[in-house]
Amino acid sequence: MTIAVLIVAAGRGTRAAATSGKPKQYANLRGKPMLARTIECFAQHADIATVTVAIHPDDQTAYLDCIAQVTSTKLTPPVNGGATRQVSVLNGLESMQKSIPGVKNVLIHDAARPFVSASIIDSVLAALNDNDGAIPALPVSDTLKRTGGETHKIIETLPRSGLWRAQTPQGFRFAPILDAHRAAAAQQRQDFTDDAAIAEWAGLSVVITLGSRENEKITTAEDLALANDKLASQLAFETRIGTGFDVHRFASGSSVWLCGVEIPHEQRLEGHSDADVGLHALTDAILGALADGDIGAHFPPSDPKWKGAESHVFLKDAARRLADRGGRFVNVDVTLLCEAPKVGPHRDAMRAAIAEILEIETSRVGVKATTTEGLGFTGRREGIAAMASASVLLPVEQSTKNAPDR
Ligand code: MG
Repeated sequence: MTIAVLIVAAGRGTRAAATSGKPKQYANLRGKPMLARTIECFAQHADIATVTVAIHPDDQTAYLDCIAQVTSTKLTPPVNGGATRQVSVLNGLESMQKSIPGVKNVLIHDAARPFVSASIIDSVLAALNDNDGAIPALPVSDTLKRTGGETHKIIETLPRSGLWRAQTPQGFRFAPILDAHRAAAAQQRQDFTDDAAIAEWAGLSVVITLGSRENEKITTAEDLALANDKLASQLAFETRIGTGFDVHRFASGSSVWLCGVEIPHEQRLEGHSDADVGLHALTDAILGALADGDIGAHFPPSDPKWKGAESHVFLKDAARRLADRGGRFVNVDVTLLCEAPKVGPHRDAMRAAIAEILEIETSRVGVKATTTEGLGFTGRREGIAAMASASVLLPVEQSTKNAPDR
């Protein structure tokens, strides 16, 4: 008996992912797109044969990036969704009818419910033995009020007994739900808010199984933040440490950039970018902790694009790579090696500049300086050297992977 899954991911909802600008189903949930996590819930279930995703045609690239993080042979090619959820589901079902032989039952699921459990899936599938459809739902426990007008004045209190909040996956015998969707489309009925409503309208028998709070839909930025916190509390983190080292030589000039601060000096540091030796060493330290190449690999000096670049761009990129993998900083530390200029008076400004770029507390940023007692190239005032270290926390599931290609 073939059980197929259709995940609806064609929506444009950007409320939950305002900072990334991506539709929320592609938002980063602790190092993985939400949709990848949703797909895995089904792909890892033994009874499920195939998983098909209905996507927005504009999301081809985001989808490919997303499924690059999913290891499963159950994924079929994606289907283009439509203007409404209902159209997307119909497109998906029609495609599955053609491409997946012998589909007996289908589970239709929202991409924005990435925490669906195996037991919810089991309950829905079990209920399909005796019914055309089954959906997980939670009984309404809050008292329900109806209001009218702008003032939100209460008009009445509604009885809540027998009321449920519908979730997904909504399971159906395949042929009857496809027929129901086709009939609704033929009659231009587009006002159904879930698939169970279409099934009910078509006269199919649909029952409720128990859903869970874990399986709530992620809708707002607050939901997304809560989901990230929840995952963080479940994940095992490991501490990673990286080191970096850099040198730039002096040339004639009137100021140097050190750790994001411009300091007047009788010389400048020579380099392709602004030659901020401190930020370069620190960028390499972070990349080292991530085992993700080095500054030269991501920003080749041979590329004219980076000529005169401000080094906070490099550091910000390294921080973004850490965030993309669900990690966070423990602390960073930079040591500058030079006879001059004097670093002490600028130390706090440097710490503040680095903290701002990395979006961490200043208390997690150390900046120190030393001379080399007149010895070596720094002692001869030929240039400045910098050493840095970065300590980060990385989810163990991300630690064992190679850095994603970009
Ligand atoms: Mg450099």
